[in-house]
Amino acid sequence: MADHYEVLGVERDASADEIKKAYRRLARQLHPDVNPGDDASERFKLVTHAYDVLSDPEQRRRYDMGGDQNPFGGGGGAAGFGGFSDIFETFFGGAQGGGGGRGPRPRSRRERGQDALVRVTLDLGDVVFGTHRDLDVDTAVLCETCQGACTQPGTSEVTCDICHGSGHVQRTVRSLLGNVVTSQPCNVCHGHGTTIPYPCGTCQGQGRVRARRTVSVDIPAGVESGLRLQLPGSGEVGPAGGPNGDLYLEITVDAHEAFSREGDDLLATLEVSMPDAILGTTTTIDALDGAVEFEVRPGVQSGDVLTIKGRGITPLRGSQRGDLKVGVHVVTPTRLDHKERALIEEFAKRTKAPQPRLAEHQQGMFSKFRDRFRH
Ligand code: ZN
Ligand code: ZN
Repeated sequence: MADHYEVLGVERDASADEIKKAYRRLARQLHPDVNPGDDASERFKLVTHAYDVLSDPEQRRRYDMGGDQNPFGGGGGAAGFGGFSDIFETFFGGAQGGGGGRGPRPRSRRERGQDALVRVTLDLGDVVFGTHRDLDVDTAVLCETCQGACTQPGTSEVTCDICHGSGHVQRTVRSLLGNVVTSQPCNVCHGHGTTIPYPCGTCQGQGRVRARRTVSVDIPAGVESGLRLQLPGSGEVGPAGGPNGDLYLEITVDAHEAFSREGDDLLATLEVSMPDAILGTTTTIDALDGAVEFEVRPGVQSGDVLTIKGRGITPLRGSQRGDLKVGVHVVTPTRLDHKERALIEEFAKRTKAPQPRLAEHQQGMFSKFRDRFRH
């Protein structure tokens, strides 16, 4: 069989461009449409096959080493047809850059790491002022052995000898429209243009390892359930030591048995005995941020709201704390002994307490309950 270089009339060290030019010239001369005749047709086949082999770096390398297992086999077993659009990037259309490094660039091993999500449960007390947490996060960290280089220390990555560092291989495929050159990621180096003959043993050549890391986080005041806090750069390190992704904290605030939240205000209910409601008293309650002393005025009614300014929640954006609003619930005694009963009856006689009646203008319970926390 004729030597492919001779068939194309090029030197053995011809560049991809020279091979392409030679084939273009010969194909124009010998194409069966232009030059009918058995001889030209046979030569056209030879020229095309020579070009098929020499234009594909991998096949050309094998041919140079003495092997050419695919006579007239088109692009070889591994070649696939590209999409139909590739067919229009045909040789004659000239859309492909050919060799010489003008094709797509190799893909870096270094990539940004993934974002991660951690769920954090707080109680309402944490929300009032904000809090600090040390969170254990399962993540990927830089490999200390190779520092992200992926190679065994003392070794380095080498240019891929299949794609010669471009990360892409060109395959020539025959189609009805002629010979089609398609570019595909090199499956030896996975498009990186380099291979790692001695991968780092610690990270198996990934440049990063799985690890549990402690992330210290200051959680601001005023957060609420469902909120996601973004911690830029606290996610996992990327392949080959690429930049870290972000870490997101998803907040859940547990319900509190005594306090609830409305906006930046804290709401609570204070049970006041009937005598205290009548006579008034001072009392101390344990708010989320410490003791609060306040006065229950004589004659306080169920549904009255006592507002303690500035003892609510510090908002997420801003510094003006909300209020603590305490609704009064007067507790009616349910079990009286003989003497207590007699005293209450005496009290009722003395005060000439009116009969139950409809309140004027619905001033009573319901509107008060409705408005209880809206003062
Ligand atoms: Zn390593
Ligand atoms: Zn390669």
